[in-house]
Amino acid sequence: MTQENLQKGHPKGLYVLFATEMWERFNYYGMRAILVLFMTKALLFDKVFASNLYGSYTSLIYLTPLIGGYIADRYWGNRRSIIVGGIVMAIGEFILFFCGSLYATSPDTALLLFFSGLGFMIAGNGFFKPNISSMVGQLYTKGDKRIDSAYTIFYMGINTGGALGPFVCGFFGDTGNPADFKWAFLAGGIGMIISVLTLHFLNNKYVVDPDKKIIGLTPDGAPKKFLNPVVMVVGMALLSLTTIGLLYIDAKVVNYLFYFLIGCIILIAVIIYSDKALTSTEKTRVSVIFTVSFFVIFFWSAFEQAGASLTFFAEEQTQRDLGFFNVPASFFQSLNSLFVVGLAPLFAWLWVKLGKHEPASPYKMAIGLFLLALGYLWIAFGVKDVQANVKVSMIWLIGMYMMHSMGELCLSPIGLSLVNKLAPIKFASLLMAVWFTANAFANKLAGVLSGYYPDGKTTSFLGYQIANLYDFFMLFLGMAGVASLVLFFLSSKLKKMM
Ligand code: GLN
Repeated sequence: MTQENLQKGHPKGLYVLFATEMWERFNYYGMRAILVLFMTKALLFDKVFASNLYGSYTSLIYLTPLIGGYIADRYWGNRRSIIVGGIVMAIGEFILFFCGSLYATSPDTALLLFFSGLGFMIAGNGFFKPNISSMVGQLYTKGDKRIDSAYTIFYMGINTGGALGPFVCGFFGDTGNPADFKWAFLAGGIGMIISVLTLHFLNNKYVVDPDKKIIGLTPDGAPKKFLNPVVMVVGMALLSLTTIGLLYIDAKVVNYLFYFLIGCIILIAVIIYSDKALTSTEKTRVSVIFTVSFFVIFFWSAFEQAGASLTFFAEEQTQRDLGFFNVPASFFQSLNSLFVVGLAPLFAWLWVKLGKHEPASPYKMAIGLFLLALGYLWIAFGVKDVQANVKVSMIWLIGMYMMHSMGELCLSPIGLSLVNKLAPIKFASLLMAVWFTANAFANKLAGVLSGYYPDGKTTSFLGYQIANLYDFFMLFLGMAGVASLVLFFLSSKLKKMM
């Protein structure tokens, strides 16, 4: 059957999931492209606060999938979870649309709506993102050779949405007039609705496993009471209220997220390492997952500057006037996805070409960090000796995003499959949680670090002085560079441990 399937290419369901995910990422990245601009230009937050809030928001975005995955596996099934999560995200965008409509006349209401909109996005994403990803694998029988390429195609869907979102939302929302930001939220919300409708209408016809059984239905034996619409609506409303509160407390009251995330990791480590049933080989493999998760923190915290400090940089210090068109700063957030789509075939070819010389996973991740560092070296070079009020060529941002995207292609897909391969079955979900928590930690750190974006005065991060953009970018060069080197030297040991 595999042979026959190979000739037939991929099941149609893959393209339904592709489109569903594409429109959701359109919504997520389209909104993210203008997020810090909206905060600083419409809501008039200062850059430090906007950066921190960006970090708290994107951090929680990586944390709620733990809840959404859990509920789907036991009670709701993937399909219902995705549709409910998608609707909640759309509601979040529409709330942000109202926020963007009345921030000038009713600032207090707008602030309340802003936190609420973000909270809904966080809650909804938790139900959407983990479940759509897990459905892709279910289209195939275990061990089908096409699964890897299915995930590559799916990753292209993610990035097609990631490229289109900032263009469309930036075009309508990032016009130079802060009153227009609302259109970006509206466009995001419409994208989200298209995503939900796509899955709703096409799922049962096309998203089927090799035995033609519909995928993502309610799990067998799920208690009926959790499927009651009233229970579902109340449950999602409570979760959204909680995420609004969690976001608000971290941003406005006390920065607890870092400690909370470290606590989560320690707790999981204790649970796993104290399990007597695990063999020492399994525990060694678990250690590889923890080590690798630690290193990806350095990657994503520098990489995710895209939505914060690098957008300030695009807005304020990049020459964007093409004569006939003034390129909105938000457009630059498309570059990563564009490069991923453009360069993925090159990397796929390269790994095949290298054959048995293809680097092992930890080496590839070290290379990913190295490319990220190189991107920051490039842009640091571009801003060296440039006065604070002078704008530099776009080439610096474009080149940097190209190198960052190459780094992503080396590190991101590999990390995820490493966790999948090395985790003992008993702790598969818990170790996936470690991976997500590391991402959450990295995003929070990204926000905090973006807060050091130079604004006239010299600041200090762990004793490192930041007076200008050069110092600022060198910080990320240092972080990613050191992490890359250390991981490189650890790689042969990690390879043995795997
Ligand atoms: N850009 C990808 C996505 O949105 C991966 C992001 C990540 O893993 N941090 O799915």
